[in-house]
Amino acid sequence: MINMMIGFFKDYFKYKEAAKKQQKWMNKYCKQKGYAINPSWMMATNLKSNLCEMEATFGKRYCPCFEPSGDKALDKKMMCPCEYVEDEIKEYGTCHCALFGPADLSKEQWKASSRRLMEEYQVPKNLKNGVLDTRGMPLDPRRGLPVPDMMHQVKAVLNGYKDDTLKVIVEREQEAHNLEDIAAYRGYGCSWEQKDGLIEATLKLKP
Ligand code: SF4
Repeated sequence: MINMMIGFFKDYFKYKEAAKKQQKWMNKYCKQKGYAINPSWMMATNLKSNLCEMEATFGKRYCPCFEPSGDKALDKKMMCPCEYVEDEIKEYGTCHCALFGPADLSKEQWKASSRRLMEEYQVPKNLKNGVLDTRGMPLDPRRGLPVPDMMHQVKAVLNGYKDDTLKVIVEREQEAHNLEDIAAYRGYGCSWEQKDGLIEATLKLKP
């Protein structure tokens, strides 16, 4: 928990200025649609920081909850605000990431959707002896992508990780490319290879 809070505040200060740009389009979007932004300062701030990080890492404003899939059509649909908002509001009360919801959503409904999201992401990670196996997570029914995805699993493990290297097993080549982008943005080394029917990447966290 303490490592999560340290990570939250690091990102908050890092993206403080860039987040103002996110706030502007979000306000405009909410006004047009009759939506509101999650009233929890921590949730909204975290999601705005994540949007800034997605833009800085992958060059586009992808959904803060899903790394790019490599499928151009799907990735276009996942640009925030994504094409799933209305449908997900019907199911969860808010969009998947609990960033947007109807303006008249009650505090309890916001909290319930935020809790659902946290439960989806705070699952045990398969980390053993410096090897994180990211495969086998449940798939989001609309996007067909894992929740939590490789990116969120790696980020969660790196919060407070002390070793110099982390090996990451991924399912698809696109995830290995995403890991390269994440590593480049964070100043880590990254290499990967296909072996025995799986892809194993190595993150070098220290020079
Ligand atoms: S689920 Fe919410 S935060 Fe994610 S892309 Fe869609 S609108 Fe944006």
